[in-house]
Formats: sequence, structure tokens, C-alpha cells
Amino acid sequence: MIELTEAQQLIQQTVRDFARAEIDPIADDIDREDRFPTHLWPMLGELGLLGVTIEEQYGGSNAGLLAGVIATEEIARASASIALSYGAHANLCANNIETNGSEAQKEQYLPGLCDGTQIGALALTEPEAGSDAMGIRTTAVRDGDVYRLNGSKMFITNGSVADTLVLYAKTDLEAGSAGVTAFIVESAFDGFSVGQVLDKVGHRGSPTAELLLEDCIVPAANVLRAEGAGAGVMMQGLAVERAFLAGEPLGIAQAALDEAVEYARTRKQFGRRIGDFQLIQAMLADMYTELEAARWLVYRTAHVVEESAAKGMRSNKEAAAAILYSAEMSSRVADKAVQVHGGYGYMSESRVARYVRDAKLLEIGAGTSEIRRMLIGRELIGPE
Ligand SMILES: Cc1cc2nc3c(=O)[nH]c(=O)nc-3n(C[C@H](O)[C@H](O)[C@H](O)COP(=O)(O)OP(=O)(O)OC[C@H]3O[C@@H](n4cnc5c(N)ncnc54)[C@H](O)[C@@H]3O)c2cc1C
Repeated sequence: MIELTEAQQLIQQTVRDFARAEIDPIADDIDREDRFPTHLWPMLGELGLLGVTIEEQYGGSNAGLLAGVIATEEIARASASIALSYGAHANLCANNIETNGSEAQKEQYLPGLCDGTQIGALALTEPEAGSDAMGIRTTAVRDGDVYRLNGSKMFITNGSVADTLVLYAKTDLEAGSAGVTAFIVESAFDGFSVGQVLDKVGHRGSPTAELLLEDCIVPAANVLRAEGAGAGVMMQGLAVERAFLAGEPLGIAQAALDEAVEYARTRKQFGRRIGDFQLIQAMLADMYTELEAARWLVYRTAHVVEESAAKGMRSNKEAAAAILYSAEMSSRVADKAVQVHGGYGYMSESRVARYVRDAKLLEIGAGTSEIRRMLIGRELIGPE
């Protein structure tokens, strides 16, 4: 894969135009006011983006993982916050249901997620279980035709606005990974409530919330795959999730490079454009080179992950490497963009300062850089 297909190029141009027209003009307000723009969801649905990896029969556009990566990148170029909420919805929630759901679950939940009338999220992390995902303590106890869930979830993207969530709980606290079960939970279910909505330094406008489950009643029909199969759901989804999310730092870095080039062309010092100074050109050259390297790594990885998933295999190392490099690249590129802007770049209303705040999260969410390095290293060494 060295070129995007015509269909992928069309999606790229369509999302770029949409993001320029509808997201870019409100991106600074979304960040300043920490406001989630609900009105964008049906618009993203109309463009086929919310169901980008979902089959047409459930309302999706079935354009593939790479199309989802490109859409994420183009949305992130305008607003990383919207791109993150988009990924939580389209990938973590909808794609997970598409991959693991029963026919009845797909028919019930996917159409609303694809047209944007419903908002999706995924709830795994807990206050005491982040990197150690298998250490979750939320319990699910079977009671006839329902399960009763008790516990809490932390840092959940779209948590305060979601209607439908893929949520992990322990059906057996002593059974390790075999005790984990994935459920489809509706925020309207009895016993579900939103705790704190968290105040973040970046990705403001993408709501991050604590969720509370107090005897939350979930129908047994809402178990994904089977009781005790949650770890498989989680692991199977991780490579796809990382590949999908790896598009976001590309968009942040592209926006940072665009702003830096524009500023270097217009800002004058010593009677010349700062872009005429070789030290500024070197920064721009490094930003461009790293971004190009990351983009082709991420695009190729999406292709590889999709191909191997179709054969029932996983590309964990490849997906971890793509997001590891892409995320750290975007922090470096955003940091250089501030440097090119000098003091103006350090002002709170500056866009490049926003890119620095936004980029950092991609080194933390969906597995930290350390966890990604561990996973790659472990796979390279292999079992003894
Ligand atoms: C804005 C935001 C949105 C998020 N959205 C979601 C969401 O939608 N759904 C969801 O379920 N979760 C979400 N998360 C949670 C995210 O996945 C976790 O924050 C992440 O997995 C890290 O967990 P933690 O924060 O508990 O850090 P910890 O696991 O406590 O890690 C702290 C530090 O220790 C390091 N560390 C941990 N274990 C090891 C080890 N074995 N070896 C070396 N170093 C280690 C980490 O790399 C890190 O540097 C979100 C988080 C944020 C901040």
C-alpha cells in the first residue's frame, strides 16, 4: 500500500472540507468553554463517518479501518477534542459491537450509533485500575435475566454524554482474566449515573467523566460474546483501537506544522522573515520529516491490522509501534511549533499552545507510551 485508493482520497477530501467548514470555526470556543458540540454528531453520521467500519445493513458506510484513521486525522487537524470523542464513539463503542455483538445486539444498537442519534463510549478504566486493566473491581452478579453491576469507572471519554457504552466488569473476582465480561450498557439503565465531569488541560470539549454503577441493572442479553469472554473482547479490540487512534496525532501535528510555516512566512525580525533563518527552517524541516514518517507508518499499520484481523490474527506490536511513534512525534512537532511562534506561541489563546496540551494525552490514553514499549519489547523477545 503506497497510495490511498480513490475512495479513501474522497473520504479524506470530504472530511477535510467538512472539518474546515464546521469544526475549525468553533474549535477555539470548544477548547475555551470545555463544551461538547452535540450538534456535530448527526452531521458526522450523515457523512457516514460514525459507522465507518460498520456494515451497510446496520447503517454504516463500511469504508474500512484506514478510512477511519484518515477521518480521525482530518477531524483532529481542526479539533483534537472532536477527534477523540469521534474515536470513542465510532471505534471503541460501535466497532466493538460490530465485531463482538450478536445479530440482535447489532440490530438494536448500531443504527442509532451510525446516524448520530445515539452517542457511544467505552468504559474500562477505574480509579485503581488503569494500565493494569485486568485489575478492574467493578462486579457483575447474575440475578435471573439480568446482571447487577456495582463499581465505578474513571476517565471515560464521552462518559457524561453517552447513551450506549461498552463496559467491562468482573463476573468472577478470583478468576483473573477469565472473570472479565463485556456488557452493552445504556446510560438510561437503573443504577447508572455520572459522577464528576473532569477538568482537563487538553482535549477540552471532549467530556471525560467518572461513572457510577450502583446496582445497575443490565439485561443478560447485553453480554458481549459470553460471560467470561471480556478479556478476549478487550485484547482483540486493542490493536484496532490503537491503529484507529494513531490518526489523531497526525492531525494535531499537521495543524501545528501548518501554523508554524504560516507564522515563519509572516513574522519579521532583523528586517527579514523568520522563515529565512536557517535555524527556523531546520525546525520546520524536522517537523515535516517526522510527520511524513509517522503518517506512512500509521497508514500502513491500519492496512496491516485490517488484513490480519480479517484472517483472525492480531498485529499488536505493529499497532503499538504506530501509536507510540505517532503520539510522541506529535508532542515534539507541537512543541517546535510553539518555539517557532516565540512568546506569542506561549499565550493561552494561541492555537499552537492548544496543540501541545492536546498532543500529550496521546502518550497516555489507550495504553501509555511505557505500556506500548513493554508490549513491543515483549513480543520482540518472545517466550523463553
Ligand atoms: C482524557 C482521557 C481520556 C480517556 N478515555 C478513556 C476511555 O474512553 N475509556 C477508558 O476505559 N479509559 C480512558 N482513559 C484512561 C486511560 O486509558 C488511562 O489513563 C491509561 O490507561 C493509564 O492508566 P492510569 O491513568 O491509571 O495510569 P497508571 O496505570 O497508574 O500509570 C501511571 C504511570 O505508571 C506507568 N506504568 C504503569 N504500569 C507500568 C508498568 N508495568 N511498567 C512501566 N510503567 C508502568 C504508566 O506508563 C504511567 O507512566 C482516558 C484517560 C484520559 C486521561
